[in-house]
Amino acid sequence: MLNIGCHLSSSKGYEAMAKVALSIGANTFQFFTRNPRGGKAKEVNLADIEAMNKILQDNNFAPILAHAPYTVNPCAADEKLRSFAKEVFSDDLKVLELIPGAMYNFHPGSHVKQGAEVGIEKIADILNQVLFKKQNTIVLLETMAGKGSEVGRTFEELETIIEKVELNEKLGVCLDTCHIWDGGYNIQDDLDGVLKEFDACIGLERLKAIHLNDSLNICGSHKDRHACIGKGNIGLDALTNIINDPRLKNLPFYLETPNELPGYAEEIALMRSLYKVE
Ligand code: FE
Ligand code: FE
Ligand code: ZN
Repeated sequence: MLNIGCHLSSSKGYEAMAKVALSIGANTFQFFTRNPRGGKAKEVNLADIEAMNKILQDNNFAPILAHAPYTVNPCAADEKLRSFAKEVFSDDLKVLELIPGAMYNFHPGSHVKQGAEVGIEKIADILNQVLFKKQNTIVLLETMAGKGSEVGRTFEELETIIEKVELNEKLGVCLDTCHIWDGGYNIQDDLDGVLKEFDACIGLERLKAIHLNDSLNICGSHKDRHACIGKGNIGLDALTNIINDPRLKNLPFYLETPNELPGYAEEIALMRSLYKVE
């Protein structure tokens, strides 16, 4: 079975998200751990988390994915921003221990004028401070499009971060199809070559999740504008090959396409209909 879901609003709580996921034919989903622009964590409602966990378990959900707010910047020049990022990661990781199998995804950040090398050091430093031995949650670095001074625009940059982290058995990668396409990896003409490059550089065993998005821009544009499935430049055929590739087909896929719920339900049904079951 294809493990697929989409990004959902967490404003009505955990159990509500699981119910919405079921209603649109998803067996996983992604959500922001707090307001995507940062801000305070909501108070932890244990009963709500447990109610969600029960739905996930009863319906054999694939791992759900918590997304850190995209404004936290673990490699900011300003130390105040970095300690905010550290606080957010620490708090989020504590809550996620209450959700069996959940993973945590974050954007490596933007180095602004410090250079990628300094950025990489700073990101690894934060991970070395927040990861803890007993944690069960796998933390995913997301592949980025390379807009502005984003770190994580190449597989090499992600691998360099991973190498510098002591507890890197807790780390994995979330591959965003729009981002790597915009970043210059041609998953339309050469998916095999891109996956071989990923394997040689990071190792496919680190690949834990896919953000399944089409792109409004051309390969190598370094833009990062998501399109609905089949409505962008990657196209439906290439995205169908991705969900069916033997190296990827058992991973969880999360749509981050510009949709409301009915649109997501349609895309989930479409991808399920294109999934080849042996
Ligand atoms: Fe993201
Ligand atoms: Fe993404
Ligand atoms: Zn994006």
